[in-house]
This record gives sequence, C-alpha cells and structure tokens, in this order.
Amino acid sequence: MRAYAVNSFTEPLVEIEGADPQPKGTEVVVEVSRCGVCHTDLHLQDGYYDIGGGKRLNLADRGIKPPLVMGHEVLGRLAAKGPDAPIADSEVGKSFLVFPWIGCGECEVCKRGQENLCAKPGSLGVFRSGGYATHCVVPHPRYLVDVTGVDPSIAATYACSGLTAYSALRKLDIDKENDLLLLMGFGGVGMSGLQVAQGLGYRKIAVAEIDAAKRELALKHGASFVVDPRDAGATAVLAEAGGLAGAIDFVGAKATAEFAIAALRKGGIYIAVGLFGGDITLPLPPLVQRAITVRGSYVGNLVELKQLIELVRTNKIAPLPVESLEFAAVNEALDRLRTGKVQGRLVLAREI
Ligand SMILES: [Zn+2]
Ligand SMILES: [Zn+2]
Repeated sequence: MRAYAVNSFTEPLVEIEGADPQPKGTEVVVEVSRCGVCHTDLHLQDGYYDIGGGKRLNLADRGIKPPLVMGHEVLGRLAAKGPDAPIADSEVGKSFLVFPWIGCGECEVCKRGQENLCAKPGSLGVFRSGGYATHCVVPHPRYLVDVTGVDPSIAATYACSGLTAYSALRKLDIDKENDLLLLMGFGGVGMSGLQVAQGLGYRKIAVAEIDAAKRELALKHGASFVVDPRDAGATAVLAEAGGLAGAIDFVGAKATAEFAIAALRKGGIYIAVGLFGGDITLPLPPLVQRAITVRGSYVGNLVELKQLIELVRTNKIAPLPVESLEFAAVNEALDRLRTGKVQGRLVLAREI
C-alpha cells in the first residue's frame, strides 16, 4: 500500500510505502477511491489548535503523533475482511462510505451510539490511519455505510462536512418555518450547512461571511439573505428579520462567536462547530437574563450519518460542489484550503 503521511508537524505530507494491510479479527480493509480534504487536516498538519490568549492545545499531548495518515472522508471498495468480521462475503468488492468518528466501542457513551463523544477516540485519519492512502483499515464492518446511487465524490463529503452540519442542525430547537437561522462562514462545511438546513425544511436562513464571492455563492445556493459580519449594521439586519433564534458557527473564531452570541434574541441558541480557534469572554448575568444557550457540536454519530444518507437518497439535499484532484496532489489541496480559496469541497479521487 501507499499513503501520504505527516512525518513531522508543519511539514508537507510525504509518500510512504508498506505491505498491504491484512485484516485481523473484526477488521475490514477498504481500498480507497475517494477521500475528502478537510480543514481539520490543517490543524493536524500543524500539530496544534489555537485556544486563545496565545495558548495552544498540542496534539502530541492528546496522543496524536507522527507519522500520521490523515483523511477522514473515506469512500472505497471493501477489499478484505477479517476472520471475525460480521459481513457477508458477497459484500466484498462493493463500495462503501466509512464512518470515521470511531470510539472505543465499549464505554457507555459508545454503547449509546455516541462514539464521536467517546473519551478514548479512535477516529480514522486522526487517531488511526485514514484515507490519504490506497488502503484503510476499519475496525468493524458496522462503520461501512451503503451509499449506492450517490455520486462517490459527493458521498465522501458526507462523512465529515455533511455529518457535522447535520448533527449541529439537529441540536437546534427552533421553528423551521418562521425563526431566523444564521450560518456563519461559507466554506465547505458552511455550504453543507445551507444545503442540509434547506433539506431539513428551514425556510429563513441567513449566511454571514466576510468574503464577497462566498456571499454571492450563498445567495446562489438559496440563502434568504447574506450579511458581512464586519458591517456595523449587520446585527440590525438580523434583528429586523425577526431576531436571531439560532446560529451555527462554522468558523469558530473569536469574532464570529462574539458576533453571533451578541445578535441572538432572548432564548436563542449559538452552536460552535468550526475550530478556527481563539476564546471569548461570556458575562454571566446576560447569559441568564437573555436565557441563551451556548454550546459546541463535534462531528456526528453513525445513526446521524445514516439518517443524512437517507435524506440524500430521497433528494432532499442538493449536492455540494466538489472538485476532484489526484491523491498525489494532496499537498496542493491542503495549501489551497489553507489560503481559503476553495468553493465547496476538495476530494482526492482515483479509479480502482
Ligand atoms: Zn473533517
Ligand atoms: Zn467509548
């Protein structure tokens, strides 16, 4: 097998070669044909998250150490199964989307189906080798999701960007017909957010974005209206549109969080999803008096991914614009993502 790995943090990925993996126990091996490139990979490549105040959350302290094969939007052909893998032989050779947010599988959180919140995560492309490779080992076939009939490049993006948006939207408790929903940031996940929100039936969806070209794109994709959060009048525009009931922050920066939390109407909810980094000060009396909710949402669980694929299958969700690149162009893809000049999602693709 061949893979592209982070050999030392901050450096470009390097190609590595090894023997094809042989599945043990319940493991299955997927021959990778698509792998989406995600903003999270930039943090993994850098080796840290910015947690504000000049402080860093170092990945090495969380047990993430090079060499690291990233890539968590993995789709491919089931190539081999371990002796104890509970999946029919007839499934070998078929294509599947891989659920990457794998936990220990044994704790109460995992047993409740919230593996993405397990205290001992084993996520693909983060804590174990992911899809920037010809082959990817998956610990159990239950993580394989049937996406027959869905374009493989688009299907790959549902494992992270689609699922992250879907799971965050499910945490909102607002009136889909009448309440105003604000999506902050219109990168790949933000765009997924708009499409999934429309698919779920939200009718009043505003998008806040500092890049004029991305604001245009948001309007083209069905946003009710757009704002530049740096405009002095942006908060007033939201208030005039009925007040902000819910905000999903796909950026997760100090400026976006402060803007959205300040703009919430009483009883509103702010959900942080993006990992840009930074910190905020949250005065407590207004939190109480305005009865607002401030919470985070991290990727999503396996049931949510299957629900999302079902929505896609019933044509409720418009496909995300994806641009395909060769696997060998992975460093170029990461660099382009770093400069923020990507509209939609980049997906590495190979025919197998
Ligand atoms: Zn991701
Ligand atoms: Zn667990």
